Parts: sequence; C-alpha cells; structure tokens
Amino acid sequence: MAKILCVLYPDPVNGYPKTYARDEIPNITVYDNGQTAPTPKAIDFKPGELLGSVSGELGLRKYLEGLGHEFIVTSDKEGPDSEFEKHLPDAEIIISQPFWPAYLGPERLAKAKKLKLALTAGIGSDHVDLESAIKHGVTVAEVTGSNSISVSEHAVMMILSLVRNYIPAHEWAEKGGWNIADCVERSYDVEGMHVGTVAAGRIGLAILKRMKPFDVHLHYYARHRLSKEEEEELGLTFHENVEDMVKVCDVVTINAPLHPETHHMFDEAMIKKMKRGAYIVNTARAEICDRDAIVRAVESGHLAGYAGDVWNPQPAPADHPWRTMPWNGMTPHMSGTSLSGQARYTAGTREILECWFEGRPIREDYVIVDGGKLAGTGALSYTVLEHHHHHH
Ligand code: NDP
Repeated sequence: MAKILCVLYPDPVNGYPKTYARDEIPNITVYDNGQTAPTPKAIDFKPGELLGSVSGELGLRKYLEGLGHEFIVTSDKEGPDSEFEKHLPDAEIIISQPFWPAYLGPERLAKAKKLKLALTAGIGSDHVDLESAIKHGVTVAEVTGSNSISVSEHAVMMILSLVRNYIPAHEWAEKGGWNIADCVERSYDVEGMHVGTVAAGRIGLAILKRMKPFDVHLHYYARHRLSKEEEEELGLTFHENVEDMVKVCDVVTINAPLHPETHHMFDEAMIKKMKRGAYIVNTARAEICDRDAIVRAVESGHLAGYAGDVWNPQPAPADHPWRTMPWNGMTPHMSGTSLSGQARYTAGTREILECWFEGRPIREDYVIVDGGKLAGTGALSYTVLEHHHHHH
C-alpha cells in the first residue's frame, strides 16, 4: 500500500460546481502529430467536469482506494506546517499540477525519503528540481501533449487581444462609455505583422498553425529546425538565434520549457533588441522573462504589451507587479487547465498510474526523468546544469 499525495488548486469560491455551462465536450482521441490521447483502462469521471480542484480529486479516489492505497488531496502546499510538508516524508507518489505547483526543491526532495514518482498532471515539470530527482532516483513524468492545444488557443487569444486592445475596450463598454477613440488609440490589425515563436514544439507549432490564416509573417527560433515541408507549408522564417528573430518581430510568443538554457532569456538586453511597440505573449514559464525588465519595458513604452498566464511564484502574491503594470493581459495560470484539457491530463495521469502499479513501462512521451537521468521527452526538451543533453 502506497501513500499518494496530491496537491490541487482550491475549489471555486462559490463551492464545487453542481452544473456546468455546457453538457459535453468534444472527444479528442489523436493529436496533430499522431500521438494518441491518453488510453487508461477506465476513468471514473465525466469529461467536462472540474477535476483539477481539491473536490475533483483528478477523478482518482475510487481507483486508488480500490487498490488499497492511501490518497491524500490538499491545496495546502506552502511552508513547514502545511499538509504537504506533513505528508512529504512518507509519500511514495506526489501528484501536482503546474497551475498550483507543489514545489519540490532540493530540500523537500531530500526530506521525501520514500518518494519514487513525481507526477505532473499537466505539462511542465520545472517545479521539480530535476537534478535532485536524478540524484535521488525519483521518476518524473508528465502528460505530454494533453493540453498543448488548450495553451496554444490561449496564446492566440492573447496575441489578438493585445494587438487589438480588447481588454481596455471591454472595460469601456462595462463602464457605460462609448469612447471609440480611447478604444482605438492603441488598436491595430494583426494582418501583415511579423509573429515569432521561441521554440516550435507542440505548443509553438500549434500557435504558428493557428496564426497562419491571419496572413502574418511567421518566424521561429528553435534548437532543432523543423522539416523543409513544415517550413514551406507555413511559410516560416527560421532564425539561428533568438536575437535575430526578436529584431524583426512585432509579436513574440514564448513556448520553451523552463530550464537552465531558457532561464531569463528575455532580460533587459534581449528586450532592448526587440522593436519598439512589440508585444510578448508568454504562456510557457514566468522565469523565462526577467520580471522587472518586463515591467520597465511596458512602462517606458518599449513593449506595447505583455500577456501570459505564468507567474513566479504561483500563486502570485497580491502585489506582483504583472497584475497591475500597463498594457498587461495577464490571467492566472489557467490555459492548460480548461475543462477540455483536464479531461485529457487526468486520463493521462490515470494511465501513468495504471502503468506504474501494473509494472508496465510509462509511455516514452510522458517520461522526463527515469533511472537517474533525463529520459523520454525530458531528454529531448530539458537540460540540467551538470550535463547537457542534445540528442534528437
Ligand atoms: P514540447 O516538449 O512539445 O516542446 C518544447 C519545445 O521546446 C521542444 O520542441 C524543444 O525543442 C524546445 N526547446 C527546449 N529548449 C529550448 C531552447 N533553449 N531554445 C529553443 N527551443 C527550446 O512541449 P510543449 O510545447 O507542449 O510545452 C512547452 C512548455 O509550455 C512546457 O514545458 C511548459 O513549461 C509550458 N506549458 C504551459 C502550460 C500553461 O498552462 N500555461 C501548459 C502546458 C505547457 P528542441 O528540443 O528540438 O530544441
């Protein structure tokens, strides 16, 4: 019998929903790159339900208790007196979502003596110190592909809303005004603009595909070039380095994982190389940008706007400057946890747990760290400081 510790975000302020806005969600079985959506043997929830908050329990309680395991679910994750720290020393499996990350730094990993599996219900395992996980022989897995489209749709929405000045215009409507000039003094068309992505993995490529019909010029920077066919189909301009790309872009969207190579990639110096009036949309990870350099750039007008849904730390404190800086289109970290995305990543979490308990290998695509090294998707997309992995 194992103790499974699961950290989830709190229920809605008005309580766990009794009804939903829609009765069903489309059933997506295969992703764009041919990867199949999760295939657990069974699920104990109805797709479209709220599963990512504490009462939703990722739909796992019946399954895990049925196997005789102890299943602890909490949102109390910070500080030495938290529920999370209390259960940490004897948890064998920790499940957490990037939206409400149970940070597993070196100290916590040293304390988690029984930990064997750190499972990210979602995508992005940077809240786990991968070097320490490697050192302690902890397996790290995430549900690769499960919410890539959820995030790319959010990024496209943010690009359009920044460029067209949607949020301030909506505020005028709500306030009872009819201030057309106020709404449009910062409103442009995206058509004809240069839009570039940092990284063209699942999310980056999906954003490029979704922006293509807007008749923009598409650019990308990546460590590995896409195929000639993909470049031609989308009319992509490839850049060997980020600097060259940002110089020519009106909109830059960031879609790389957070690891030593991408940490503070967008600092003062990089932002200076961007065109005056450019926009940044970052739904990847906050620490890829230097927080205060972003604030200064929107305040000075060098950047015309910044939007995203990722913050450091999470939850962001009430006085985080990105909440109130000018021309921001921030949301809490929500893009990857739409009800549609949840249905897939909870099914993927179930699939990984079934594999784990039945002694079957976890899909390569889902593995980040295994056997004391970066493996699977982890070996492709991440680096740790000691050793640089660059195979593809
Ligand atoms: P993928 O693994 O499909 O793609 C990541 C890509 O990043 C890979 O193609 C990799 O390319 C590239 N990459 C890694 N390092 C660099 C670098 N230094 N420079 C340029 N490219 C780099 O992941 P996804 O697209 O699904 O997700 C990307 C990230 O988005 C996640 O790691 C996560 O942090 C974030 N995310 C955010 C969510 C949200 O709710 N806001 C939800 C889901 C994900 P290569 O190895 O070929 O260089």
